[in-house]
Amino acid sequence: MKCPQDQSKLIIKESEGHIGYLCEACASMWLPLTYIEAIKHWRTWFSDAEFARKLNEATRRLTASECPAKCGRLSAAFFDSIEVDWCQRCHGVWFDKGELRKALEVNRPKSQGSGWEGADILSPLISELLSGLF
Ligand SMILES: [Zn+2]
Ligand SMILES: [Zn+2]
Repeated sequence: MKCPQDQSKLIIKESEGHIGYLCEACASMWLPLTYIEAIKHWRTWFSDAEFARKLNEATRRLTASECPAKCGRLSAAFFDSIEVDWCQRCHGVWFDKGELRKALEVNRPKSQGSGWEGADILSPLISELLSGLF
């Protein structure tokens, strides 16, 4: 797979059987639907269905970027001050640098506090992805 923005080859990041793809050139990442779904097993407060619903409702336009899985062009969605590109066919999501962190933050219940200090709030793979990006 290649980065839709700079055509760099994406690096496969695997943890617990789930695969995400990283672009080292622009620090963005591509998370396939299976990966998005898997987040809820690590973080029970994360609802992949709710996330997908928000994406659908917030979708505005097609972007110039192609889906790394070669489905066609990605759609842009703006929600909670975050812009993400996603594929309406395979439901993979492209996160620019920092956007995954923001997306998880805004989808996190307030009762659990704020901030990213505790390593316990992050899944092993997300921790690894974030540590490589921030
Ligand atoms: Zn890139
Ligand atoms: Zn796709």
